Amino acid sequence: MRRPIVLLLGAVWFLTTCATVPHTNRSQLVFVPDSQINPMAARAYGDLLKQEAESTNPKWNRIVKRVAGRITRAADEMDAPGFEWETHLIEKDEPNAFCMPGGKIAVYTGILEVAQNEAGLAAIVGHEVAHAVARHGAERMSQQLLITGALAVGTIALGREMDERDKLVLAAIGMGATVGVILPFSRSNEEEADEIGLYYMARAGYDPHEAPRIWLRMNETFGNKEPPVWLSTHPSSVQRIRNLERLVPYAMDYYNRADGRYGLGETL
Ligand SMILES: [Zn+2]
Repeated sequence: MRRPIVLLLGAVWFLTTCATVPHTNRSQLVFVPDSQINPMAARAYGDLLKQEAESTNPKWNRIVKRVAGRITRAADEMDAPGFEWETHLIEKDEPNAFCMPGGKIAVYTGILEVAQNEAGLAAIVGHEVAHAVARHGAERMSQQLLITGALAVGTIALGREMDERDKLVLAAIGMGATVGVILPFSRSNEEEADEIGLYYMARAGYDPHEAPRIWLRMNETFGNKEPPVWLSTHPSSVQRIRNLERLVPYAMDYYNRADGRYGLGETL
């Protein structure tokens, strides 16, 4: 009876010590493999695209695809996550953006007024891509599975009603808003995504000084209203803005060595 538990804990320990986050070199608890989580995320992404309308605004589409293309190229060059990237602009007046495990990106038109320009958008997309590259979804799911003791991820099958555990899985990989379960990333995950995302945007050729300004604009735009889902999981605290400002000089190294430098880019 005891042996399997020891073996299991041993396996968890082994896999845990093997997983390291790029740039921050933090060891993380991840025992849900990409081969399991990425197809699930891709399916959820396909479902979302069926439910939502894509934006038909040619300028916005062009800019969103361009920014996402540069950010994902930067991520590939720096960390080679081996993702199959895909980006869509969803027509919805909601400040939201995400990158699912495996590289499926969605930007909602409602976040463009806060982004204001390409660099602002690059900061947001960079942050979301960083969550995915740093395997935060898999990490959160691993923690969730340890907590619930439900290790049989593989049994999640299609073709039946979603149960509570399925919802938790979707929430863990960043689809929480669509299934009504909000599972925010931990604060350390947010700080990590801020840092890595800042490097991606700089390497992609966008002025990293715009990243802390994004969070100031979030406060100005939504500060007095009921916070939307994305903002309630991404509180734009003073601490967050200070952390980003502290990291900008490091990001400038990447910016100065970028293949092309676009400053703030085109205005949205
Ligand atoms: Zn985040």
